[in-house]
Amino acid sequence: MHRRLKDYEGIVGEKELQKIRNEASALSEKHLAHVNSTYYGGGVAEILSSIVILMNDLGIRTGWRLLKGSPDFFTVTKKFHDGLQGKKIHLTEQKKKVFMDINEMNHHLCHLEGHDAVMVHDPQPLPLINFYSRKQPWTWKPLPLMVGLDAFPKKQPWIWRCHIDISKPYSPLWNYLKDFITKYDAMIVSAEKFKKKLPMPQHIIPPSIDPLSIKNMEISKSKIKKYLDKFGIPDDKPLIAQISRFDSWKDPMGVIDVYCKVRKKADCNLVLLGNFATDDPEGSKVYQKVLERAKKERGIYAIAFESQILVNSVQRASDVVIQKSLKEGFGLTVSEALWKGTPVVASNVGGIPLQVINGKTGYLVNNIAQCADRVLHLLKNPEKAKEMGQAGKEHVKKNFLVTRHLLDYIRVFKKTLKESNAMRGRVSSVRKNVSSSFLQGLSNLSEIMSEISKG
Ligand code: UDP
Repeated sequence: MHRRLKDYEGIVGEKELQKIRNEASALSEKHLAHVNSTYYGGGVAEILSSIVILMNDLGIRTGWRLLKGSPDFFTVTKKFHDGLQGKKIHLTEQKKKVFMDINEMNHHLCHLEGHDAVMVHDPQPLPLINFYSRKQPWTWKPLPLMVGLDAFPKKQPWIWRCHIDISKPYSPLWNYLKDFITKYDAMIVSAEKFKKKLPMPQHIIPPSIDPLSIKNMEISKSKIKKYLDKFGIPDDKPLIAQISRFDSWKDPMGVIDVYCKVRKKADCNLVLLGNFATDDPEGSKVYQKVLERAKKERGIYAIAFESQILVNSVQRASDVVIQKSLKEGFGLTVSEALWKGTPVVASNVGGIPLQVINGKTGYLVNNIAQCADRVLHLLKNPEKAKEMGQAGKEHVKKNFLVTRHLLDYIRVFKKTLKESNAMRGRVSSVRKNVSSSFLQGLSNLSEIMSEISKG
C-alpha cells in the first residue's frame, strides 16, 4: 500500500498536514515531472520514491522520469560528479559528446513537453533542457503574436535541483556545465554554502528522510536481531557502523582506520553496509578493495546487499554510526541514524553540520584520530550517547522529515510557476499592444485605399 499524507499525522500533527494541503491546492491538476538517473541506490532515489507519491496524493499530477544511460555515460557523469565536488578531471570533447548524445536520446524518450514544470536532479540530465523549446514568445516576430497566445509553446519552467557539494568545483568543468545551468529558471541547493553566482533565483532546501519507510519505521528488538543474525553480524560486542554506497567519497578505508584505532582501546565490531547505484560504475571496485582490507582485520563485516530492513536494523543496533565522508551534499544516512536515536560521529563537511550539531546530536570530526577519539568516548559513555541520540531524533523531527521537504518543493514550484506566468502576463500585454497597433494600421490603410479609389 502506498503511503498517504494522512499517515504522517501521528508524527507531525494535523496542523502541519493542513498547511501542506492548503499550499498544494494551487498546484491541483498541474502536471509536474522529476527527472533523475537512478531508481535506487543513493539519496536522490530515496527521496523521490517518497515525495513523488505524496505529491500525487495531494492531487498534483507528478511523474518521475529516469534517464537511461549507457555504462560509458555513467562513467563520464561519475567523473563530472567528482569534478563538481572539486576533483581535477580530464574534460575531453569525447566526454562532452557522450554526455550530450545520451541526453539527446533521452529527450526522445521523456516527452516532457506537456508538463507545467520540470525538476531535474543532479548533473546527469542537465543538458535535457537544451532539447525543449522554451523560447520566450517576445523574441518571435510580431505576426504570430496576433494569432493568439495559445498558438505558442507555453514557457515551461525548469528547476535544477543539485544534491551535491558544489562549493569548490573544478572550474573548467563548472564553466562547461554553467552553460546548461543558466538555462534553468531556478536552482535548489541543500545548504547556503553551495549557492553560486548565477542569474536565476536559488533556493536552499535540505533533503529529508521518510519516517514511515521500511528503512526508518519502528521495528522490534527481535526483528533487529533476526536481520543481524541473517547476515552473520554478532551482537556480543559494541557495534560501530557506516552505511553508505561503496564510493571513495564515503571513505570506507578511513572508517577501517578509525575502527582499528578504536579497537585497540575498546573491543568492538564494525559493519560496513553498502549498496551500488546504477549511475555509479565504480562501486564494485571500491567494494573489492574494502573486502581485501577487511579480510586482514578481525571483526569487520563488509556487506553489499540491497535491503532497507537491514539498513534499519544496523542503524538501530549500532552504538555509534560513523559518516566519514570526504565531501557530502547532505548525507541522508546521518539523519536516518539520528532518527533512530543512534549518535553519529561524522566528518565536518558539506551538509553534515546541518544535522550533527557538534556536542549535541553527535560529534563533527576532521580526521581519523579525532573520529576514533569521539567514537571511543561514546562507546565508553553510553548515557552521553543516549542523550545525544535523543537530541538527534528531535533535531531530525523538526528539520529533516519528508513533510517539511514536500512543503518546500510545493512552495518552490508555485513560486517558479508564478514567475513564469508573470512573464506570460507581460506577453499578453505586448500582444494586445501589437494587435491594436496592427488593427489601427489596417484601418489607416483602408482609409488611404478608399481615398485613392475616390481619385
Ligand atoms: N543505502 C541503502 N543501502 C545501503 C547503503 C545506503 O539503502 O546499503 C541508502 C541510505 O540508507 C540512504 C541512501 O542510500 O538512504 C544514501 O543517501 P546519502 O544521502 O547518505 O548518500 P548518497 O548515496 O546519495 O551519496
